[in-house]
Amino acid sequence: MKKRIIITLSLLLILVAILAYYYSSWEFTAPVKGCSMNSYDQNGFGAPRAGHKHKGVDIFAKAGTPVLSATKGLVIYKGVLSLGGNVIVVLGPGFKTHYYAHLKTIDTKIGSWLSNGQEIGTVGNTGNAKYTPAHLHYSIGTIFPKWYNDKMNGLSFYTDPVPLLNKYFEKLK
Ligand SMILES: [Zn+2]
Repeated sequence: MKKRIIITLSLLLILVAILAYYYSSWEFTAPVKGCSMNSYDQNGFGAPRAGHKHKGVDIFAKAGTPVLSATKGLVIYKGVLSLGGNVIVVLGPGFKTHYYAHLKTIDTKIGSWLSNGQEIGTVGNTGNAKYTPAHLHYSIGTIFPKWYNDKMNGLSFYTDPVPLLNKYFEKLK
């Protein structure tokens, strides 16, 4: 009997923690050190690519420039992918996933809790960015799709990072 109460209470506590994290507000930092509004294309999200639509934004910077975590969060994946090259995936507030690709170096590990703006790697051109100038490909994924997203075709599981970046730079002015 006592055991059951403890288990129930523990589950409730976990649920509350998950909900709190889901609804926690998230501070946003532009994920490339020293970048500006000129470092990315305003129409980068959803832009046509060979056989698909671009699911993020490309932020151009010199190879080796520090890549910063755009939010607080937990590193849930790091590895090498054929398209993304060296990549990191961070689970952030609101259960959004933050995908950082084409990295030159990865300077964090799976299970690390990141603070907003913490350095996690450097800009590079690994993966399918081999023949393009160094840039960070940055995508925000969402577990709960946006069916109302008008740019939907294949993008409903993604959030456009451009408005967030613009807002960040507007605030700096
Ligand atoms: Zn890209």
